[in-house]
Amino acid sequence: MKLCDHLRSRGLLIFNNSLGCPTAQPTHRSGVLVLAKPDIQHIRQKLMGSDTVPHTAATTFRHYCQAILMWRHQLTASAVKTFCVNDWLDRKSVASGVCIQLNGSRTKRSIILTGEEEEFLECYLLKLRPLSLRRQDQDSDDKGRFFLGDSGLPLCNPSGDLRRLRDKYLQPVSEGPGADSVSDPPTGQASASMSMQEWDAFMKAFPMSLHGNAPSRDKCVEAGYPRYRPYYVKWRDLQLRQRASYMSRSLSKTSGRPHKASIQSALDKESWTTNRPLVHDVLKAWVPPERQLKDTWSILTSVMKQKWKGLAIKDFGMPKGKGVVAVMPFSKEVVICDYHDTVTSEAEGKQKRQSGFLFFIKGKETKALCIEAKASPCTCHPSLVIYGRMINHSKQLPNVKPHLHRIDFPDGPQEAVLFIAKRDIRPGEELLCDYSVTRAVVN
Ligand SMILES: [Zn+2]
Repeated sequence: MKLCDHLRSRGLLIFNNSLGCPTAQPTHRSGVLVLAKPDIQHIRQKLMGSDTVPHTAATTFRHYCQAILMWRHQLTASAVKTFCVNDWLDRKSVASGVCIQLNGSRTKRSIILTGEEEEFLECYLLKLRPLSLRRQDQDSDDKGRFFLGDSGLPLCNPSGDLRRLRDKYLQPVSEGPGADSVSDPPTGQASASMSMQEWDAFMKAFPMSLHGNAPSRDKCVEAGYPRYRPYYVKWRDLQLRQRASYMSRSLSKTSGRPHKASIQSALDKESWTTNRPLVHDVLKAWVPPERQLKDTWSILTSVMKQKWKGLAIKDFGMPKGKGVVAVMPFSKEVVICDYHDTVTSEAEGKQKRQSGFLFFIKGKETKALCIEAKASPCTCHPSLVIYGRMINHSKQLPNVKPHLHRIDFPDGPQEAVLFIAKRDIRPGEELLCDYSVTRAVVN
């Protein structure tokens, strides 16, 4: 009943039965969406301003985006799971917002999102999804799904996520900020009752630092936080995460996941006496470094499996057609994807100019070669989308450059073209290459 009172007090529920309690779930749902919205708008503003937000805030933001689709647009959990980045990128503007065709779900259907809903989902795609993608293991497959969990894998329980969102915003008022309990409340509960604005104000008063100590009770009270406990717990939780990612970054000099023993010995060298991360926390915070040309094994694996993360195909419509869009940031000089197929000499390639799609390229120490891709998809990956074949041309504004690379395939070495970032690339940018000197496309 406390829930109902809370909602009714905020004008979100109108009761018309004798018990005075709602029986229809949708009222709860719209209530949560309304209660959470100020936080969500605040988080979006921070993210779009390239500020970082706490992990819990990022998770809430994702849950809210899922709730828009499930609660407001009545998508099933399975439709939310199979919703793909491609569906999103191919959305069309309509009078009342944007229309999204959901191609992944069993019952093909389309939904129309308002401009504000579109902004929330776009913010998730550009600012939060890339963080999950960066944490993804090379062997993992996100299947191009729009919503990803922390480790970069597709969602497994959207309904559970929505329950968490509901519990976060529909808790009884009497357990507001800082119920001064004796035991530590779980982090989720602690953060639930304070708004993002309240938390930001606290952080301004007590800035987070890697080596500092959490503010004492007296200091909190002095600063106007008599119910200090949830703030204190959240501050420590954030510091623990910061320490864990600091440790994992310092151990990420090589491309492999750090060993438990080396993490433990690095932790032992730190002077932190309290709030020390465990080996498990550091491993969880570990982010694989971006792929460089020297990462030969990782490049070979990606070329063979055609698994290049952080890319999606977008249909730009006529006359441009399809192209490749970055959905993750790429730093200058990192390897983004490849282009491979039958390799011949430049002279032979020139003779075949009538045959189709040819890529002429000269390496630093090799003769000019011609990589010939007769048809898309390529002969060795007939069922896969090959991003490297779909990158559009731009003479003026290329952001990737081709690099001829010798790859040691199991059946012998062969040349392939790797696309390298010419500069830092942001999520949402189309990948463009200046082919004018290297490729001849003949129909
Ligand atoms: Zn292939």
